[in-house]
Amino acid sequence: MAYQALYRVYRPQRFDEVVGQAHITRTIQNALMEQRMSHAYLFSGPRGTGKTSLAKIIAKAINCEQAPVNEPCNECPTCRAITEGSSPDVFEIDAASNNGVDEIREIRDKVKYPPSEAAYKVYIIDEVHMLSTGAFNALLKTLEEPPAHAIFILATTEPHKIPATIISRCQRFDVKRHEVDQLMERMQYILSDQTIGYTETALRLIARAADGGMRDALSLLDQAVAFSNGDLNDDAVLEVTGAVEDEALLAVANALHAHQVDQLLQTLEQMQRAGKDLKRFVEDLVFFYRDTLLLKASPTAVDLLERARPTAEFKTFVETIETETCFHIIEQLHDCQQQMRLTNHPRVLVEIAFIQIAEQGRTTGQIVQSLQQEVRELKEQMHQLKVTGVPAAENTPAQPVKRKQARPTVRIAKERIRQMLSRAEKAQLLEIQERWDAILKLILKQDGPIYSLVHESKPVLCSADTLLIEFDNGKGWHFEQVMTNERTRFVIEEALFEVCGVKREILAILDNDWKELKAEFVAKRNSSNIEEKEVAVESEEDRLLSETLGRFGDIVEFED
Ligand SMILES: [Zn+2]
Repeated sequence: MAYQALYRVYRPQRFDEVVGQAHITRTIQNALMEQRMSHAYLFSGPRGTGKTSLAKIIAKAINCEQAPVNEPCNECPTCRAITEGSSPDVFEIDAASNNGVDEIREIRDKVKYPPSEAAYKVYIIDEVHMLSTGAFNALLKTLEEPPAHAIFILATTEPHKIPATIISRCQRFDVKRHEVDQLMERMQYILSDQTIGYTETALRLIARAADGGMRDALSLLDQAVAFSNGDLNDDAVLEVTGAVEDEALLAVANALHAHQVDQLLQTLEQMQRAGKDLKRFVEDLVFFYRDTLLLKASPTAVDLLERARPTAEFKTFVETIETETCFHIIEQLHDCQQQMRLTNHPRVLVEIAFIQIAEQGRTTGQIVQSLQQEVRELKEQMHQLKVTGVPAAENTPAQPVKRKQARPTVRIAKERIRQMLSRAEKAQLLEIQERWDAILKLILKQDGPIYSLVHESKPVLCSADTLLIEFDNGKGWHFEQVMTNERTRFVIEEALFEVCGVKREILAILDNDWKELKAEFVAKRNSSNIEEKEVAVESEEDRLLSETLGRFGDIVEFED
């Protein structure tokens, strides 16, 4: 017999084999027993959670020769024909491939004829959201006046794409994602049935990788079993799930801890070349640090570890890292995960997160070093006092001096700002200014440090593609960060887009430079305006310009 995929062999054939959807099966079983089934059902939920399996069980239960029943017998010719897909009265339509109006029209034309063998004609339309508008209209006609012998079961992963007119004619059920434990239980059952040995770690890894879908879990299990040559082992699972081995996670964590940025970037490069999923990798890393925290809090809790194995190396790592640091790193990785959802360049974000984490470690290390140095110096001075009774000479090592408010070295994008001034968008600016608080609030939600960087800035100039924000003269460092840090600008730009619906590149400027450029602009316009007045034609650009000038009416005082 040809090999059959596990998820086909172990497809639920009865309601009581459907995992984790009791809220649905109970309702439907009651309706079956009371013989008041609806004419249209809609199952919505993530892929591979058993929507079409449920549909087929319903088709069997309602047509079973023992009906009314609350479970199909799976023995009678009708049940068997439906299981095998050979019943002339049960139609499975995949809207993803048959999205034409014609197929649905055919249903509409033929639905009126009574079923040939079974009691009901059952139409199962999978991925129904893929139907064209024309097909939806044809379907709606049928749903409006369904013949008594027809039942429609629609399944979709994207219910929001289905017209409300269709939804309102269906009894709707939301099929839930499966819990890790539910997936594990089912896999345990299957493996015992197949007399294949397994480790719990392997099952847990598969269950997590499947992200709540039974079909994904079972096809991963299939592959891992094939890879394992016998009993299911962890290596095979790691291979097929693309998860990163716990040794690799430990190596990355150690590199982060030792500020080995080069090595971290190389590791990322290798991973991407090996086709590892970076999103999953970051998640693995979060779990790894969670395991670290767990073991720090309770050294005996080794069986609660999710990613790390309690090796001697891991235990050493747990002892050397501080709880605070773990929390901090988890937070940053979590932020990174959030950002990764919005981008097509996840690697860049992971690189930035790694550099930030590694650099932070370094800074703390430096602080400790300089504190140790100061303590050493103080001790020496104490010693000196004891011995001689006078303070040490003036030429002791210089005390660290507070950094002066140095003029930032980052250059101001003067030419761009001049161009912006001549193409200023006043209305847009006013809107952004009005909503600046909302934008800042959103930034705070996204990233605390970036918020503290920009919360005292204000938008001062807007053009079709750029927004200029101004900082007080004392905030040179803030200005510099915005101008040089891509992620900072990205977060501001995203918040701006979310709140105002406009995309603008962010530029920053310090107060003094801004005043200077405004003054220069006004002086220039004043001289050329005299000539333009003679032309007496006000172009659109001029109108915007005079509006801009109107807004800068206050800057005359800055002119010399
Ligand atoms: Zn039956």
